[in-house]
Amino acid sequence: MPTALPTYSDVVRASEVLAGVAHRTPVLTSATADALAGARLYFKAENLQRMGAFKFRGGYFAISQLSPGQRAAGVITFSSGNHAQAIALSARLQGVQATIVMPEDAPAAKKAATQGYGGNVVTYDRYKEDREAVARAIQEKTGASLIPPYDHPDVIAGQGTAAKELFEEVGDLDYLFVCLGGGGLLSGSLLSAKALSPSCKVYGVEPEAGNDGQQSLRKGEVVRIPTPKTLADGAATTHLGDLTFPIIREHVTDILTVTDEQLAQTMRMFAERMKIVVEPTGCLAAAAVLNKRVAIPEGARVGVILSGGNVDLANYGRLVAA
Ligand SMILES: *Cc1c(COP(=O)(O)O)cnc(C)c1O
Repeated sequence: MPTALPTYSDVVRASEVLAGVAHRTPVLTSATADALAGARLYFKAENLQRMGAFKFRGGYFAISQLSPGQRAAGVITFSSGNHAQAIALSARLQGVQATIVMPEDAPAAKKAATQGYGGNVVTYDRYKEDREAVARAIQEKTGASLIPPYDHPDVIAGQGTAAKELFEEVGDLDYLFVCLGGGGLLSGSLLSAKALSPSCKVYGVEPEAGNDGQQSLRKGEVVRIPTPKTLADGAATTHLGDLTFPIIREHVTDILTVTDEQLAQTMRMFAERMKIVVEPTGCLAAAAVLNKRVAIPEGARVGVILSGGNVDLANYGRLVAA
């Protein structure tokens, strides 16, 4: 039986569960950024969320919805990025065991961060083994619930709470720009936008090298691409999900792309002018606005989600110094 698509009432349920657990992140403004874009920008700073990205919202809510029996068997996921840390931290906070399947050659800092949040890291050889098969074998043995990074109704509902908070804080917006990988954040944001600011135009923004979402929207079906090479590692996904795509197709205004150079410039702008660390993937939405990838009328009210701030400091230094 196909899983039912989440609705705005699921986002509201998620916001109730997350109250007092997830940070209600600040909405930042900048006269410099406004001048560059020729609009009034409201940045929802999910780089300041717990574990450094919005992914905490979906991970925590998904785990909270498990039955007592499912919680006792633990959760499992395969990811080396922000979703791994989100699941490790949200599982620990709810007294649930988390197993994270990661490639053996994943950056040591990422492995350590995931273990630091209490995750049980299991590594595999990405040239010889299939991560889904590795995860499935563990699942069969332990009965753990698989929590995927985006294609899950509770994950989508949880991610939608960031945009919900933004609309509640600043009111109606003319535009909302959202970083896009597999589409959990964008589909959740669309549910909130349609409910709270129905005339708001919502754009997803992908790396130019990985524009599978844009291709899918044009074609009317999910298009799969090879793993793209981009600075935006959190959006280096190969396809949208069976749940995220129908929501995006129905409600999104359009999907835009930005280049790696535009992401690096945007990171620099945030460091220099706004004194905040935003990872390359977290800059996708802002880069589209600052580079005027779509014409925005002078003075329009524009929401921009900064999705995360986890970046290796040596890389960060190199990118912002350039
Ligand atoms: C995962 C991630 C994204 C993409 O989110 P999806 O829900 O997969 O579209 C964007 N930015 C950051 C920082 C992320 O970690």
